[in-house]
Amino acid sequence: MEKIKKSLPLQIFIALALGIVVGLIFLSMGLADFTTEYIKPFGTIFLNLLKFIVVPIVLTSIIQGVVSLSDIKKVGTIGLRTIIYYFCTTAFAIVIGLIFANIFKGSYAVLETSGLEYEAAEPTKFMDTLVNIFPSNFFQPMVDASMLQVIVIALFIGFGIIIAGEKGLGLKNWIDSCYEVFMVIMTGIIKITPIAVFCMMVPVVAVNGPQILGSLALVLLTAYIAYAVHALFTYSLAVSSLGHMNPVKFFKGALPAFLFAFTSTSSIGTLPVTMECAEDLGVRKEVASFTLPLGATINMDGTAIYQGVASIFIATCFGIDLTLGQMATIVLTATLASIGTAGTPGAGMIMLAMVLQSVGLPVEGIALIMGVDKIFDMGRTGVNVVGDLSAAVIVSDYESRRMSKEAKAK
Ligand code: ASP
Repeated sequence: MEKIKKSLPLQIFIALALGIVVGLIFLSMGLADFTTEYIKPFGTIFLNLLKFIVVPIVLTSIIQGVVSLSDIKKVGTIGLRTIIYYFCTTAFAIVIGLIFANIFKGSYAVLETSGLEYEAAEPTKFMDTLVNIFPSNFFQPMVDASMLQVIVIALFIGFGIIIAGEKGLGLKNWIDSCYEVFMVIMTGIIKITPIAVFCMMVPVVAVNGPQILGSLALVLLTAYIAYAVHALFTYSLAVSSLGHMNPVKFFKGALPAFLFAFTSTSSIGTLPVTMECAEDLGVRKEVASFTLPLGATINMDGTAIYQGVASIFIATCFGIDLTLGQMATIVLTATLASIGTAGTPGAGMIMLAMVLQSVGLPVEGIALIMGVDKIFDMGRTGVNVVGDLSAAVIVSDYESRRMSKEAKAK
């Protein structure tokens, strides 16, 4: 098992590179449709398997995490710290996105905007998002994979077990046992990750190849520079100063999750891999089982960067100059939009409509970048999961220090 874990990043990396090469070959042969019809489905099977295991894993691992903290107040403290960290890094991410977009905007190709059409989905109001966190049915959230609601259910069960004391032990043991079984299944699924990565990469390259070289190349480049700066600068600083971990060690440990997120474009689908990475990075289990599912649901730094860059690009195409006040509004709405963005492929583009509307930009501008959204999505999902892992490392370090302080005081 150890050997597989160690070689997984390399295997994923090789699969990614092979996927690009094979994708280019199919592209040159004009067989893009073949790849979406016959290669992509194998990636989809794998994603389905991950989605199938993710709800039981999140449910049982959060319950375990809460019960092992054995104190409701402690859960609250960890939760609050995690959420504050998520908010701050997300706001910081959009600022970075806006700065780079403003630097590059003079060179953007101004695309034709007449005749654009994009039907924006009805944006969810903040209060509705709040209400929707609380489930009205025990099973429905699990069936729909509504992760925030699943997290709330897990918290309640965890609290219930703590308060019930002796009488709750039976349920606790049963959940522990379920968790172990689900983990075994998940480990089995993760072993075939390299094949899945290959199958997901080939169609992306074969279908999007020519567009990368099109007029949107510079906007994509802006987003990727901002992704890289945020990941390398913000997370390095955060994990080294707040988490007392060498950034090189952190990025090495986070690599499999990054690569997997990059190809799957789903934070939720990547969650099992992210959890494995956290374990390898030495993150406390009870912290990982709490911060990571929460992060995969509400923490989207890469998405926030993309929304900042896309807003400036769309404004440029429509000949609109955004004021500093409007940019501040973008920082606020994109931070809030990140909570509502599901950790699934393409969700960030749907939420972009809300950000554009908040500053009066035309929503149909989304049609300008829709064609290459997959490429934006790959980078932003990668950043999203690395952000989740950085929080896990920091909160885990804080917990370890607090515990050793407590032990010393005794
Ligand atoms: N695909 C992203 C994620 O799963 C969400 C987005 O579309 O921005 O994290």
